[in-house]
Amino acid sequence: MSETEYKFRVAISGCGIGGLAVAAFISIFTQGNSDGRIAVDIYEAKPEVSTIGAGVAIWKRSWQVLQDLGFEEDIVKKGFKVPKDGESRGPIFRKSDQPTEGYDFHDHMMPYGPLGLYRPALLEVLQSKLSADCKIHTSKRLERHDVSDDGSANLVFSDGSTATADILVGADGVHSATRGSMFKSLGDEYEQYIRATFSGTIAYRGGGPKAKLAEAFPDHRGLEHPKVWCGKNMHVVSHPLGPNIGIICYCSKTEMEGKPYHKPLVTDAATEEVAKLFQNWEPDLLPMIKNVESYNAWAIHVVDPLPCHVSGSVVLIGDAAHAMTPHQGVGGGQAIEDAHILGRLLAHPLAIKGKIPAILKLYEELRLAPTQEAAEKSRANGMMYEFNHPNFLFNDPTHPDGPSREELEALGNTVGLSFTWLADVHTDEDWAEAESKLKAIAEH
Ligand SMILES: Cc1cc2nc3c(=O)[nH]c(=O)nc-3n(C[C@H](O)[C@H](O)[C@H](O)COP(=O)(O)OP(=O)(O)OC[C@H]3O[C@@H](n4cnc5c(N)ncnc54)[C@H](O)[C@@H]3O)c2cc1C
Repeated sequence: MSETEYKFRVAISGCGIGGLAVAAFISIFTQGNSDGRIAVDIYEAKPEVSTIGAGVAIWKRSWQVLQDLGFEEDIVKKGFKVPKDGESRGPIFRKSDQPTEGYDFHDHMMPYGPLGLYRPALLEVLQSKLSADCKIHTSKRLERHDVSDDGSANLVFSDGSTATADILVGADGVHSATRGSMFKSLGDEYEQYIRATFSGTIAYRGGGPKAKLAEAFPDHRGLEHPKVWCGKNMHVVSHPLGPNIGIICYCSKTEMEGKPYHKPLVTDAATEEVAKLFQNWEPDLLPMIKNVESYNAWAIHVVDPLPCHVSGSVVLIGDAAHAMTPHQGVGGGQAIEDAHILGRLLAHPLAIKGKIPAILKLYEELRLAPTQEAAEKSRANGMMYEFNHPNFLFNDPTHPDGPSREELEALGNTVGLSFTWLADVHTDEDWAEAESKLKAIAEH
C-alpha cells in the first residue's frame, strides 16, 4: 500500500503491554475499512519483543475490554483459566513481623478473579492481533523527538536513524524517552515531569520450587494459597504458580519516597541478603524466602501525577504516563484501558488527520484522572500492607506491642473495599462517552 493511501501514520515507542495493545486495537477497529487504514510502526528498544516478570493479574474491568474483542478464546487456548463471574478468594493477609508465629487477619474476597496470565502469553496474544499494516522494529531505542510545524513527529533513535509519523504514542514505560522529550519541549517549568521518581520501595523478586519447600516443610502455609505477609515497612507476597512459588519481598523506606535514586534500577540480590532483612519475622517466612536461589532487586519508580498526557501529536499511555506502585496489580490493566480508548478513537472513521490534536486531547480528558486515581489507590494499599497508612500507623506510644488483632481486621476490611472498583465494568459507557465527544469534535 502506498503512503498516500493511509489516513495517517502512527509511531509507537515501546512494544510492551500498552504499545502492543494500542496497535492491536487499531488493527481490530480498522479491519474492513479500506479507506481508513492506519500505518503503525512500533519501535522497541530491546532486540526482541519480551517482558520481565512472570505473572500479571488482569482485573475484570480491563479484562472485559479484551473479552469483548474475542480474546478469551486465545487466552483459553494458551491454557489459562478465565475467572467466572462473582467473587473469588484472594490472598490471605497475615501479621508476620514478629519472631513468634504470626496470624491471619484478612481473608481477601476479590471481585471476579482476577485473570492470572503469564506476561509473555499476553504479549503473544496481543501480537497475534496485529494487521499487515503494523510493523515491529526491534533494537530501535527512541532517544528523542521533535514536532514539525505541520504537526508531524520526528523520531531520533540511539543508532542515529530517524523516522517520521503523524502521531507518536509514547508507550515506552516508566523511564519513557517520549515523556522526557515531550516535557523538555514544553519548557523549564515542566522539567519535574521528565524523570520518574523513586517510590522508596525495593522489590526483591524471585521464584522457588514448590516441591523442595514441601519436602522440608510439608505443611508450610505458603504452599497452597497466595499470601501477603505484612509488617512494619515491609511485606512479602507469595503466590504458588504451577511448580513454583513466586515471591516478591517489598522493603520500604518512606523517607526515601520522591528522593533521587542514584544506584542501578535493577540488580541481582543474594538469597542470604534478602533473608537477613526478614530475620526477625515469623519462623515460617524464612524457609520460603531461602527456597529461592537468587533474587532481582528492583527500585520501584513511579511517575508523579502529570499535568497532561498529550502535547500536539504526541501522546503518552501506560507506565510512560502513570507508572504506579504494584500494590493493586493494575498498571498493566490501565495500559490496556488507555490503549482501548486511544486505539478505538484513532481507528474511528471520524478521526481524520486535521483533527489529531483535538482527538488526542479527548483521550487525555477521558484517561488522565482515572489513571491517576488508580495510582493513588495503589500507593495507599502499599502503605496499608506496611502499616504506614495515616489511618493505620500503629507506631505511636499507644502501640508498644504493635497493632491489635481488631485494628488489623479493620485494616483488612479497608484493603478489601479498595479492590471493589476493579469489578466495575464500564467498557461500553466509556466508549459511548468517547464516541459522542468525538462526534462533537468532527462537527467543529
Ligand atoms: C512487581 C510488579 C508487579 C506488577 N503486577 C501487576 C499486575 O499483577 N497487574 C497489572 O495490571 N500490572 C502489574 N504491574 C504493572 C505492569 O507491569 C505495568 O504497568 C505494565 O507493564 C505497563 O505496560 P507498558 O506497556 O506501559 O510498559 P512496559 O511494560 O514497561 O513496556 C515498555 C516497553 O518499552 C520499551 N522501551 C523502553 N524505553 C524505550 C525506548 N526509549 N525506545 C523504545 N522502546 C523502549 C521497553 O523495552 C518495553 O518493552 C506490576 C509491576 C511490578 C513492578
